[in-house]
Amino acid sequence: MSVEVRSPVVVENPEGAGPFVIVCDHASNRIPDEYRSFGFADDALATHIAWDPGALAVSRRLSVLLDAPLLWPDVSRLVIDCNRPIDASSLIVIESEGRPIPANRNLSKEQRAERIQRVHVPYHKAIEACLRQRPQPALLAIHSFTPVFFGKNRPWQVGIVFGEDRRLADLFIRGLVADPELTVGINQPYAPADQVYYTVERHAGPGRLPAAMIEIRNDEIADEFGQRSWADRLADILQAAKPNRVGASHAAV
Ligand SMILES: [Zn+2]
Repeated sequence: MSVEVRSPVVVENPEGAGPFVIVCDHASNRIPDEYRSFGFADDALATHIAWDPGALAVSRRLSVLLDAPLLWPDVSRLVIDCNRPIDASSLIVIESEGRPIPANRNLSKEQRAERIQRVHVPYHKAIEACLRQRPQPALLAIHSFTPVFFGKNRPWQVGIVFGEDRRLADLFIRGLVADPELTVGINQPYAPADQVYYTVERHAGPGRLPAAMIEIRNDEIADEFGQRSWADRLADILQAAKPNRVGASHAAV
């Protein structure tokens, strides 16, 4: 049996000089070799139930535009969802959008603990360490959502998810609603009450750091053009609002 040495946590641009730290909890649909034997179905891995399609590409471009560190777990959320508390039932799902995930049924306590220790713990430690090294950081969490959920169309191209601290969220909302072409979800399609706000809450809340979670509908960022457009648009909003809080210029990227 081959033993995989690929790290489950990726940190890009760790020395980025801008104030933002970007996290992309659902960047990857990879099932590491050591979990293959559980039998995750390959067709499920291409879909949003395994990851947030397009979110990593947007995050990467934002990381360049904002000169921001970017952190992401290189493991599918089907193995473990890093955006959930470790005691949540949705940490390791046994079904997703009505589809059973048999690979996750009947895990032993040790198997659950092993996934937590291998992925969840080091990911959040890395975020903590990255934030601690910066004088006045702000946290951006980038996600994507499926256009149709349980048969229902979602009208928003983008959603801003936030808790009590609205500093960054309001900035994005103001910038986005100015575009009449956009339907902006305000705590839609998810809100913190849906248990999707764990990473931001853990590292930035309540009120400790400016933070926002951005959900982009995944058909908007299915190709490079869409990914670049959305990253540029989000970076422009930050740049226009507070140029001194944004690190790198837009030049040459
Ligand atoms: Zn997500």
